[in-house]
Amino acid sequence: MARYCDSVCKLCRIEGTKLFLKGSRCYTSKCAIERRRYPPGQHGQDRKKQSEFAIQLREKQKVRRGYGVLETQFARYMDVAVRQKNVPTGLRLLQLLESRLDNIVHRSGLTPSRAQARQLIRHGHITVDGKRVSIPSYQLKIGQVISVQDKSKNLLKKLMEENPSAGAPRWVNADLENMKVSIGQLPAREDLDQTIREALIVEYYSR
Ligand code: SF4
Repeated sequence: MARYCDSVCKLCRIEGTKLFLKGSRCYTSKCAIERRRYPPGQHGQDRKKQSEFAIQLREKQKVRRGYGVLETQFARYMDVAVRQKNVPTGLRLLQLLESRLDNIVHRSGLTPSRAQARQLIRHGHITVDGKRVSIPSYQLKIGQVISVQDKSKNLLKKLMEENPSAGAPRWVNADLENMKVSIGQLPAREDLDQTIREALIVEYYSR
């Protein structure tokens, strides 16, 4: 499977915004965006006027990279979102991304970043409705219960102590004491990141 192996802070610098890919480090002065708020590379500080296409592309890349999704998979989410007629396409796309198992594990406060959530899932520490699931992109349905394997609870407890969470969003039911998490309802637009301009992503794919 394809993997991005370069520095993830570079991705934030390319998008010109914090994507919070490194957990607690993102909230410190060590964050690369705090120190160098311009794209990496020799021409990173050159001022360029962006075309309409470039603006749409950047928005798509920002969201895709933030959720840690590869290009083809992101396009597949878009396909599914377009086919759903009763919900605005942009919102449906975000709901699909938010319902990924790795995202919910991170959002609940079990891990400080999606990358760490993905690693725990791949290593078999996480269960859904009592069954081990090792696929980070697993789509969770409302009410399905995420838990942690008994033998892995100490590892998660240590991780949570080192990286205290700011709390789960209101649409996620998180009982961190017992390490049980579920989606209470799909997020409404106001529950999600207000800086995302999903209309630009929809326009990008409808070219
Ligand atoms: Fe992005 Fe976090 Fe690196 Fe800052 S520390 S540049 S927010 S990944």
